[in-house]
Amino acid sequence: MTSGWDFLAAYSNPVPADVAGALDALGVEVRREVSRSGSAEYLARCPAHLVRTGRTDRHPSFWVNSVNGAFVCFSCGYSGPFVVLVADVLGVEREEAVRWIARRGVYRTTATDEAPPPVPEPAVTEAYLALFDPPPEHALAERRLTVEAAAEYGVLWDLRTDRWILPIREPDGRLIGWQEKGEGHFRNCPDRVRKSLTLFGPLGAETILLVESPLDAVRIAALGVPGAVAAFGAHVSEAQMQLIRRSPCRRLILALDNDTAGNGARDRLYEAWRPRGLPIAYYDYAGADGKDPGDSTDEQILRGIARAYRPWRR
Ligand SMILES: [Zn+2]
Repeated sequence: MTSGWDFLAAYSNPVPADVAGALDALGVEVRREVSRSGSAEYLARCPAHLVRTGRTDRHPSFWVNSVNGAFVCFSCGYSGPFVVLVADVLGVEREEAVRWIARRGVYRTTATDEAPPPVPEPAVTEAYLALFDPPPEHALAERRLTVEAAAEYGVLWDLRTDRWILPIREPDGRLIGWQEKGEGHFRNCPDRVRKSLTLFGPLGAETILLVESPLDAVRIAALGVPGAVAAFGAHVSEAQMQLIRRSPCRRLILALDNDTAGNGARDRLYEAWRPRGLPIAYYDYAGADGKDPGDSTDEQILRGIARAYRPWRR
């Protein structure tokens, strides 16, 4: 005759009915809950982080799904079905972990260990965006950004993944997506967000500095220089240039990346738009280390702007 325990063990992945309660009982404090239709994702400090990396999970990146019980740490990669978490945290064998889950009352089981990682599917809404945090101090310091500049450009941070979140808004302010940027990671969300129809950063300054990368615009703002906007890449569209032209802009400084794509785009913009009456100057990379303002020192950026030149003068 099959006992209850054997019956349970036949299922490889028992999940407690109350995942949040089980986490609490395991001493894994839920720091945040992201609700979705029919399920939730719980954010906590990764309980395996110290053992796996030698460091504690300072910025919570450990997520647990309320329905399938699957967990994943986006920082150290610790992941698996809920029963594995229980076994690891309690330091017991799998069978004991199954019993622990069963003792918590009603349980569900799923027949596979291969539970999908609980990656929240982003919905492009202000409510979802509001779940991100302001960038932490260490991230700002690393890129020489300020709290004020980050706030002005609406820059946020994903604690789950330690990535920048760079909101993409239509010229009227409507949110249409964002870019995720982290170490070795770059993603547009949604994939095909129409970022070529808008610019990153406020238009309104008399002198506009056009850069490729959103964080470069924020970097320039952090130096106290107003008017930096990003085109989200070297390709600057007609629509983006029209936005600049319709703004109070009286002078445009092109500070695209100092590489083949950036310089080519810069020259094409000059040829196309100078005849249309838009005063255009080139940011001066002379003496700068990096290929974009973000890679340069404060002095190099300020000098590059101050020495912006009209190409025919060279
Ligand atoms: Zn971890």
